[in-house]
Amino acid sequence: MTVLLLAEPDEFARQALTFARGLGEVEAVCVGADAGLPVERSHVAEGIEAYAPAAWATALEEVIDRVQPSAVVAAGTEQGNEVLAHVGARRDLPFAANCTGVLAERSGGGAGAAGSGYLDVTRVRWGGSLLEEARIHSPLPLLSVAPHALPAVEEAGSPEVETFTPALSESDLVAVVAEHVDEVVSGISLAEAKVVVSGGRGVGSADGFGMLEELAGLLDAAVGCSRVVTSAGWRPHTDQVGQTGTKVSPDLYIACGISGATQHIAGCKGAKKILAINSDAEAPILASADYAVIGDLTEIVPAITSELRKARSG
Ligand SMILES: Cc1cc2nc3c(=O)[nH]c(=O)nc-3n(C[C@H](O)[C@H](O)[C@H](O)COP(=O)(O)OP(=O)(O)OC[C@H]3O[C@@H](n4cnc5c(N)ncnc54)[C@H](O)[C@@H]3O)c2cc1C
Repeated sequence: MTVLLLAEPDEFARQALTFARGLGEVEAVCVGADAGLPVERSHVAEGIEAYAPAAWATALEEVIDRVQPSAVVAAGTEQGNEVLAHVGARRDLPFAANCTGVLAERSGGGAGAAGSGYLDVTRVRWGGSLLEEARIHSPLPLLSVAPHALPAVEEAGSPEVETFTPALSESDLVAVVAEHVDEVVSGISLAEAKVVVSGGRGVGSADGFGMLEELAGLLDAAVGCSRVVTSAGWRPHTDQVGQTGTKVSPDLYIACGISGATQHIAGCKGAKKILAINSDAEAPILASADYAVIGDLTEIVPAITSELRKARSG
């Protein structure tokens, strides 16, 4: 059984290869250049200059038609998920994103909705807060693999490379990545900070973050925030912690006026210790916190800052 792996030359493709090997003999589909994976054959699409999700999907579909695979796998990156979503929508096929393992496989009767075949997988949902066991009935399961869930295949590869030029239509090139702009990080990066001082709706305003900045300055910390804060325009999206923001893993995460929604916790649960400062003793964040101070953050944060200053000057 041939399994197609949409592959880029990165660690995530090598993790996805570990998963794909559990389903059959793997052939790679690459765009621009071979990804150098240890697979039998690599189908390399030429003539696509930059990332264009619909064009990549067209290239992948051409190989699907030629090879007739039993499954298509990609890394669960933004690109991998986007391309498989295009293929799923065009072919009316189910797509299971962020899989971590195969539980069972049964072929039979065409394996479609009317057939008796199925594939059982485990997949990550809700930003890593839960694992779901899903049964997929499909003639061609489309599966992406959750990043960092599986070990990467280490061997170097020298597959037989077959190049092809996909027949692209104008609509395939409507959305094309034109430029990559590096994020401007001033001060300590959120993803690497040892201490993060993070604020939520309870901070009250953009100006309210001034006291968090002050505390962060004393602790060599980065400032983070919840999505309510970025939606309100108080802080840029690059400061957002959570499922749709940055995942942080500092030694200490100080959550000020943050309720602790699962989507926020998905981004800070890697912290060694969480200190919650919240006026509500019943706030959900207390279930994840190692320490809590119940009260008004506009009094507590300046009090901590003042004590730190005193301790350092004395
Ligand atoms: C698909 C999806 C993705 C999402 N992704 C993210 C994400 O990446 N990151 C994220 O953060 N959210 C995300 N969310 C939103 C999330 O569900 C919550 O709505 C959000 O995290 C709540 O933000 P908050 O805690 O700041 O606000 P609230 O839930 O309103 O909580 C405010 C807290 O502040 C406390 N408070 C108020 N005043 C004070 C005060 N003076 N002193 C002390 N405490 C005070 C309150 O008691 C309360 O606990 C996502 C939602 C969806 C549906």
